[in-house]
Amino acid sequence: MKKDFSYYLHLWKTSFPTARRLCWEEDHIANDYCADCRFCCGPQDSPVPFPMPLLPSQLRPGLDKDFYLLDPQTPYLDARGCKSCGPQGCQLERARRPIACGLFPLVLTTCGLYAYACCPAVINARLRDLVDLGRQAADWLSGLPQEDVARLKMSLDDATLARHYLPLGIAL
Ligand code: SF4
Ligand code: SF4
Repeated sequence: MKKDFSYYLHLWKTSFPTARRLCWEEDHIANDYCADCRFCCGPQDSPVPFPMPLLPSQLRPGLDKDFYLLDPQTPYLDARGCKSCGPQGCQLERARRPIACGLFPLVLTTCGLYAYACCPAVINARLRDLVDLGRQAADWLSGLPQEDVARLKMSLDDATLARHYLPLGIAL
């Protein structure tokens, strides 16, 4: 059965009754919920592949050992989860992970930055703190070459954005 927002709201409010650290750290989001969650690295219940583009500097031989690939250069998540998710979490050093992993639960789309509504860190956060986090992520992203930022943007339809994401009002 497909799980909706109310399912995750109940699950995460029960699992994480108090707020944990969620903040920007140099080039990624530090999120103290992840170690006890791993929801976004595991099997996805959406039939739509979630692409996780790499920067040109991250392309390397043997990508198919770390990821399921949409094309020879683009990892993605689906119902199998991520190949690099082990029992202790992500098995890759940060520099080898897709940028989307370091930004999540924020998601860069062609319409700007959004927060993924079903993440426990988002459920427990104040909107103004998410916007502040989004501004710090946007500042970092704006230091990347424009063509890299364009490559990182996900194209999500309006219905998906409305159903699963909170707009932060930050365009890039
Ligand atoms: S859903 Fe949120 S808290 Fe859970 S692993 Fe993903 S980013 Fe971390
Ligand atoms: S690369 Fe690591 S952080 Fe990213 S989805 Fe895979 S397991 Fe999760």
